[in-house]
Amino acid sequence: MKTPVYLDNQATTPLDERVLETMMPYLTSKFGNPHSSTHSFGWEADAALDIAREQVAGVLNAKAEEIIFTSGATEANNMVIKGVMDIWGKKRPNLVTVATEHKCVLEAALYCERLGFGLTILPVAPDGLLDLAELEEAVTEETALVSVMAVNNEIGVIQPLEDIGQIAKAKGALFHTDAAQAFGKIPLDVDAMQLDFLSISGHKFYGPKGVGALYKRAGRKTTLSPHTSGGSQENGLRAGTQAPALVAGMGAAAEIAGNEMAQEAGRVSALMNRFVKMLEENTQGILINGDIEKRWMGNINVSFPGIDGDLLMANIRNLAVSSGSACASSTVGHSYVLEAIGRTADEAKSSLRLGFGRFTTDEEVDFAANELITAVKNLGGIKS
Ligand SMILES: *Cc1c(COP(=O)(O)O)cnc(C)c1O
Repeated sequence: MKTPVYLDNQATTPLDERVLETMMPYLTSKFGNPHSSTHSFGWEADAALDIAREQVAGVLNAKAEEIIFTSGATEANNMVIKGVMDIWGKKRPNLVTVATEHKCVLEAALYCERLGFGLTILPVAPDGLLDLAELEEAVTEETALVSVMAVNNEIGVIQPLEDIGQIAKAKGALFHTDAAQAFGKIPLDVDAMQLDFLSISGHKFYGPKGVGALYKRAGRKTTLSPHTSGGSQENGLRAGTQAPALVAGMGAAAEIAGNEMAQEAGRVSALMNRFVKMLEENTQGILINGDIEKRWMGNINVSFPGIDGDLLMANIRNLAVSSGSACASSTVGHSYVLEAIGRTADEAKSSLRLGFGRFTTDEEVDFAANELITAVKNLGGIKS
């Protein structure tokens, strides 16, 4: 077993070797520009995009022509939020989202607010889940878009997308989900969930970094303003030469994830149960953040009250994990997600996020649990 052990699969996942194999030809001999329609170099690159569109759509119960390639989920989220408000905001000036969304959703929403649109940021309950009655009250005939993430990147909880879709549709609002942490991990169905838009990121499901996609339901109602002005790529919504190697990699990663989803979820669940059991049997007073059942089982976020987060991190140098003081990606402070579920600043700072994934082994999980238990004991145990 190599150390440090990689347990930060929410930040990014390693590239699956099968994905790399699919990508290689497009980095070497098949180097054409997919936009070149006059020769075979262009055709073969364009064919790679077509295949990947089918592969991504297949995991979502969508149609290939509803998939737009982007540089990642950040770009897809920005495209939807700004693009919807730009087109539909004159008729329906409000936007509804949630306090625990990824920074890129919240920042794009705040940008819209600065432009003069109405913004409602809903709180979550202590289990990390949205209160549907509150959502129902917040969504009105004035709401253009409801944006609620599928799986939370910090605490792993799964929002009830089907119920949320129903509430959004009852008022005629468009519905978007940031599915960066959900795609390829839990079943997603754009029809059953009544989704108009859905964002994904290649590097969160064992594909390459720098590529993602936006699902955009076909039809006039989902018209967006173009994200970049330029050529006609991606239906004129996202001008600029696509990256065939990255897109082909993401397509292959999507197909693998779709095929292996159930089996992988079972394996990751077993790892999580094993880890939590060891931790609970050997420490007292840990707090698990987010609902323990309605979650992606590859994510566990734990607070160690009374233990200084920086000291804890310093004691587990053999584990590549993320800390509650750094998750928020801001320079200082603590996680706004943990704050939203009612953790104190100190509790948040004493928190760790561990992510188990496709390549995590039993041995690594046991090692991680033992390292953590030892560190907690060395630091005098949990205080409150
Ligand atoms: C990683 C992540 C993003 C950003 O994705 P990029 O492709 O890295 O831009 C957005 N939302 C969530 C929930 C994520 O986990």
